[in-house]
Amino acid sequence: MFFPFLVTLINRYSASNSFLARIFIKRTLFFMENFIESSYSKQDRSLDTPLRPSTLDEFIGQQNIKERLAIFIGASKKRYEPLGHILFSGPPGLGKTTLANIIAKTMNTNLVVTTGPVIEKPGDLAGILTSLKEGDILFIDEIHRLNKSVEEYLYPAMEDYTLDILIDSGPNARNVSVKLNKFTLIGATTRSGLISSPMRSRFNFNGRLDYYNSQELQEVILRSSNILKLELDNICALEIARRARGTPRIANNLLKWIRDYVQMGNNNIINSDIVNKALLMLNIDKEGLDEMDKKILNTMIDHFDGGPVGVNTIGVSIAEEASTIQEVYEPYLIMKGFLKRTPRGREVTNLGYEHMGKKIPKKFGELL
Ligand code: ADP
Repeated sequence: MFFPFLVTLINRYSASNSFLARIFIKRTLFFMENFIESSYSKQDRSLDTPLRPSTLDEFIGQQNIKERLAIFIGASKKRYEPLGHILFSGPPGLGKTTLANIIAKTMNTNLVVTTGPVIEKPGDLAGILTSLKEGDILFIDEIHRLNKSVEEYLYPAMEDYTLDILIDSGPNARNVSVKLNKFTLIGATTRSGLISSPMRSRFNFNGRLDYYNSQELQEVILRSSNILKLELDNICALEIARRARGTPRIANNLLKWIRDYVQMGNNNIINSDIVNKALLMLNIDKEGLDEMDKKILNTMIDHFDGGPVGVNTIGVSIAEEASTIQEVYEPYLIMKGFLKRTPRGREVTNLGYEHMGKKIPKKFGELL
């Protein structure tokens, strides 16, 4: 209710271009401060999370994306132009937010952070967009969860840096166009398939982040242990890396857990034995599967003959949101080859049966 009203005011006054207009816009932006998280108003995020790499060189892995980004950023800097819009997709914890932070630092510009579900109405979006300064970066996490009506307002903003807002209704309805400062939109999504094609086509750079291999995660862990002042050898780092589901966030979390474990054991030495004991407590197996991964595979095998079964049915059976299964668990199980997607639903593969120590059922053809 509140923001559309403010947006109406912004539009009215920016159209008249009067002194009052600027006062009103300033006041409006003041209110918006509480609504968006801006690096102007908030502490530097890199201080909150010292493990977050702050330059492309520090960012481990994702070589192709890094090389393309270096060219993309370099060229826009040479032309003194704001960077084109960027879409990062991939499972959670792979570094999408980190890359957005790195880009803002490299471009030496301000980063404004928000998420798709927070922007409920076009007025909310208008408030954010009108507060952006020339060259600012707007980072929208979970961009696939943007309201469809909001999404449509984003198109002209991305393409021509204008915002077309409809004021009033009925015979008084009129369209007002507000000119925006040139900004860069960085969208992050865990479900790239849910991004509409008009939206996708408006991004100039599309970066799909893949799971990291063990060597890359080993590097992430060694870097983090250095920052946390932990003495960790290569072998232990690799052992942790193998259990980290190809994900730097999980690798760092496991490392922090091992730090806690060691600290509580009044022991300062981290060796393979300690690492294994600490990880055993988390019930993470050698392939990096955690409780929930194992529950999904076991439920599919024991209750649904290994599938095919729909993701919603799996969700109900294990009391987990279908969207969480799709975004967090399923991609890793598919990547490991334990699960496959078919037009009729999800199926456990022979490898999945073997890993869970279950007998592979005979196929119909083999029974005849
Ligand atoms: P996402 O936005 O994809 O969910 P984040 O960017 O928040 O993931 O990354 C999670 C954490 O993992 C970060 O705090 C950072 O410490 C670490 N991280 C991510 N990618 C890398 C990388 N390539 N190198 C080192 N650390 C990384």
